[in-house]
Amino acid sequence: ELILAIETSCDETSAAVIRGGKETCSNIVSSQIDVHERFGGVVPEIASRKHVETITRIIETAIKESGYEAKDLSAIAVTEGPGLVGALLVGNVAAKSLALALNIPLIATHHIAGHIYASRLEHEMAFPSLALVVSGGHTELVLLPQEGVFHIVGRTRDDAVGEAYDKVARALKLPYPGGPHIDRLAHEAEEELVLPRAWLEQDSYDFSFSGLKSAVLAAINQHRMKGIELNEAALAKGFQQSVIDVLVTKALRAAKQYHVKQLILCGGVAANRGLRAELATACDRAQLELIVPSPKLCTDNAAMIGAAASIKYRLAQFSGLDMKADPGLSLEEWSVV
Ligand code: ATP
Ligand code: MG
Ligand code: FE
Repeated sequence: ELILAIETSCDETSAAVIRGGKETCSNIVSSQIDVHERFGGVVPEIASRKHVETITRIIETAIKESGYEAKDLSAIAVTEGPGLVGALLVGNVAAKSLALALNIPLIATHHIAGHIYASRLEHEMAFPSLALVVSGGHTELVLLPQEGVFHIVGRTRDDAVGEAYDKVARALKLPYPGGPHIDRLAHEAEEELVLPRAWLEQDSYDFSFSGLKSAVLAAINQHRMKGIELNEAALAKGFQQSVIDVLVTKALRAAKQYHVKQLILCGGVAANRGLRAELATACDRAQLELIVPSPKLCTDNAAMIGAAASIKYRLAQFSGLDMKADPGLSLEEWSVV
């Protein structure tokens, strides 16, 4: 089984060749960050155009670097959603053309299932499993009772964690994407400006980060109005600690309630040093196995899409060439059963 996977849901153009659902033969990622940086965020129209410019070369390189040829491929996988519709369409058209030309099946894949299944490229997965998905557009606790089945037990009611990081960074005039900059500032901090934590209802696994974001913006404005110098590092640390505290506490409570065998941390924010360290300590204490993909597999890439698509390949759950990119695709509905 050799799957060529394509990912173009946001601002990374990526193609990968995955063997047997877990072996990465190639994983080529072309990031557009430098193009969007000066706008302070991803500009959808520019993202689509950049995908069009690079997709063919990226796919050719991915096949070449894998050591295989196009005729060796068993299927083409592509991110069907969620994501920016114009960006998704570019990958979708490329995937359909290839599937048609090579006369092999097409596998429509869920982007977040990809972030979760990135784990399989480096680790053994065991079920039931719980995934803490923290990315630019998503913050979810996902229970996987078995292979390929997804139940969302908690989600953000407003901002995603990555989004909150980026907005706070922007208010501090740090470059886009802001997550890594806040992370660095928080680590350099000698003091912490303690900020509120949004626990929500007692038994809820949902999250909320907009109140925290507003508290940070209010602190910045107050200092500016009074003309007092702001301890940016202390503020970054306060923000980061509030986020980590809530994420770690809820993830561990859910892991215990659902008796899972492992906890998976994934999505772009999983690159956060503070979050990784505190979740590792908490899992150690609870004697729970923690899996965190290496940083290059946490941010958007096609290898993770190939890993998730492999589950559907084995069950022969293919898509027709009339498959449509779906910016709001549901993860639970993408489940194999
Ligand atoms: P989605 O997967 O929800 O569609 P996305 O693909 O745009 O969103 P990712 O690429 O998975 O998101 O992650 C990007 C986000 O991760 C950005 O918001 C970025 O600021 C954040 N991020 C990256 N590194 C760190 C870090 N060290 N600490 C905190 N956040 C980080
Ligand atoms: Mg991205
Ligand atoms: Fe993503």
